[in-house]
Amino acid sequence: MTLDDLAARVQDRGERALAGLARLREADPPTTGGRVLSYVYDSGLAELDELAIRAARLAHGVNGLDPTVFASVAEIHGGIVARTRSILGGVGPQAGDGPHTGAVYGSVTSGGTESCLLACLAAREVCGRAPGDGGTIIAPVTVHAAFRKAAHLLGLRFQGVEVDPDSGRVAAADLLAAVDENTVLVVCSAPSYPTGVIDPVAEVAGGLEAEHDPGIGLHVDACLGGLVLPFWPGSEGSDPWDLRIARVTSVSADLHKYGFAPKGTSVLLSRGRQRHRASWFATVDWPGYPVVNPTLSGSRPLEPAAAAWVVLEALGEDGQRELVARTARATRRLVAGLSTIEGLTVLDRDPGPLLAVACDETVPEDRRVHPHHWADACGRHGIAVQAQPAYSQERGALASSSHLTVTPVTDRIVDEILHVGTLAADEVRGMPAPVPPSGFADVLDALASGALSPADILALPEDDIHTMVSAALTAPDPDDGTPSGGDDRVETGMAELLAAIERLQPDLGERLVRAYLAAVTEI
Ligand SMILES: *Cc1c(COP(=O)(O)O)cnc(C)c1O
Repeated sequence: MTLDDLAARVQDRGERALAGLARLREADPPTTGGRVLSYVYDSGLAELDELAIRAARLAHGVNGLDPTVFASVAEIHGGIVARTRSILGGVGPQAGDGPHTGAVYGSVTSGGTESCLLACLAAREVCGRAPGDGGTIIAPVTVHAAFRKAAHLLGLRFQGVEVDPDSGRVAAADLLAAVDENTVLVVCSAPSYPTGVIDPVAEVAGGLEAEHDPGIGLHVDACLGGLVLPFWPGSEGSDPWDLRIARVTSVSADLHKYGFAPKGTSVLLSRGRQRHRASWFATVDWPGYPVVNPTLSGSRPLEPAAAAWVVLEALGEDGQRELVARTARATRRLVAGLSTIEGLTVLDRDPGPLLAVACDETVPEDRRVHPHHWADACGRHGIAVQAQPAYSQERGALASSSHLTVTPVTDRIVDEILHVGTLAADEVRGMPAPVPPSGFADVLDALASGALSPADILALPEDDIHTMVSAALTAPDPDDGTPSGGDDRVETGMAELLAAIERLQPDLGERLVRAYLAAVTEI
């Protein structure tokens, strides 16, 4: 094969693969337009998306592994850190100013999960703890799952502090009471993803300052709120929750959420050089190049960070403020409209773009709307909202709900969303709560009667769980006699799956959702 032949062949096969990709993408939910109210954050400005794509093209091929070779990496990352630090009330090191105790440094990461993970790693290292020695993360139970993941990966213990089941709020005193000599990090959210609540950061900071070891970290997870709350109309003069509070040791903020950047960019801002560098990995103990990795990856793309930086620069403070104003207006209109739907209640807890909708228990049973049936019905009408399971805790469960993330583009389709929301509620009002897929009935009954213990299920090999879950998910529904899937496709609705999760203890639910994802993705 000559080189020209190869080039022609590659071009030809590539065109066909691209056409295939375009077809696959047509089947995905739309990432712009506002009809998907989670996962995607649409500014509504096609110009911004176009700029991000051009930035990624210019950054194409760079290896962010080594900023000493690719100097653009340090400049781009530095630009992102400087902008987000200033938005979140931090100050940088002053050139030639010697050590600056309050100075804030930053790492650009691949996403919120990585930022949170690195904050936990730094906390473990600053406290001089080893994996598995009991070092503990203290956080409200409503904190993002990334902190449970971090504990799992880093050999830390995660200790969730219960919240008030009605308000979703944690008492600062309860968080502080959980702090002991094993605590390496206390985490607050601004806001919490499932509830929209902004935790009492200032009060927690005050308590830590007054009574506890200064080495204990206080992380504010502003992955969602970091680039939207500072611009929220009317928030001027409200209580700070960010780096303006001296006792806050780190803050995470995602550029790929309200920074309106493509997926793949977040920032971790840490106070002081020691904490900042404590999450880095370095080694010279191998025969290759000296390794210093500030984040989890080795080789890493510059494309996402370059796109995020160009979007930040393009928007500017006035642009960001205007987009957030549109988001706030849409949120207000949605709350007002959804509140009029009989059988539902809107949990709109703090300023911010997150809403949760739950069942209104004050109306007679036959007028109630279950939020998961409602979510499924909204989905059938082209508006995707995200079902969240009830969460049990000793103080009383957080109710089943459906989550909506509001973005600037939502403002254009508020009327359509309210129309669909009303229609969907009319369709499912009075329906009994969802039940688990019928294929799970035997297992759930056996668990309930004690014929099977959770330990029996946990001891099953993964292949057995896989067979059981795939069979249950594709089993014919005895109610209507129609098979819900003749082939291996998973047809069970989210409402049924969440009903199963709500009935299982967490470690069993985890095995179930692993098998569920596998059944969807193993093709
Ligand atoms: C999205 C989110 C995260 C995790 O971020 P990813 O980018 O999905 O990894 C963490 N915390 C909160 C509050 C979030 O909303």
